[in-house]
Amino acid sequence: MNAPARETAPMVRTRVLAVLDSDKDVMRCYLSGGQHEANDLKLTRLTALAGRLADSALMAESQNWSRIFLHKILGYASGWVVSLGMTWVQPAISAERDRQDHLFRSGKHQFSCTSPIVDVARKFRVLMEEIGEVAEAIDRLEATSKPHNATAAIMHLTRELIQVAAVTTAWLESLETPGSSTKGEKAS
Ligand SMILES: [Mg+2]
Repeated sequence: MNAPARETAPMVRTRVLAVLDSDKDVMRCYLSGGQHEANDLKLTRLTALAGRLADSALMAESQNWSRIFLHKILGYASGWVVSLGMTWVQPAISAERDRQDHLFRSGKHQFSCTSPIVDVARKFRVLMEEIGEVAEAIDRLEATSKPHNATAAIMHLTRELIQVAAVTTAWLESLETPGSSTKGEKAS
């Protein structure tokens, strides 16, 4: 009997991103994304989710809980992007993932968040760096006075949020690798 065909990396990524359409809880984050809230409040909510992820991934070392909060961050960042006027979120995240993979293959990035052997603390640092850049993008938006500059600043904020979503997607991809579970949890 033939062994089942192994899922390729693009297939894993597609499956991870499909959660935006299939999981009710993630969809709720995705669809709301703080639609009517100020950017500062959205940043507070995103950072709070990152804090829960830190509790899960670094303190409790639970992959199951990490997966839950990674999904929430992916959903929330994606919804925020929609609230800024972009509707083609999943292709944008996928294109950003391609860019990250290219940077890793060309040696410009030292490691990939898709790897199950890269320490979660390192992945968390990458995510926090990206969330920090979202804060910086809000600063820039706040400082703009001319409409033309505001459009560019919103695009910049959108790009940074897509990068948050892409890092989260890469981390989720790493959890899909068989045998990457910890503390007796089953990888699902
Ligand atoms: Mg960035």
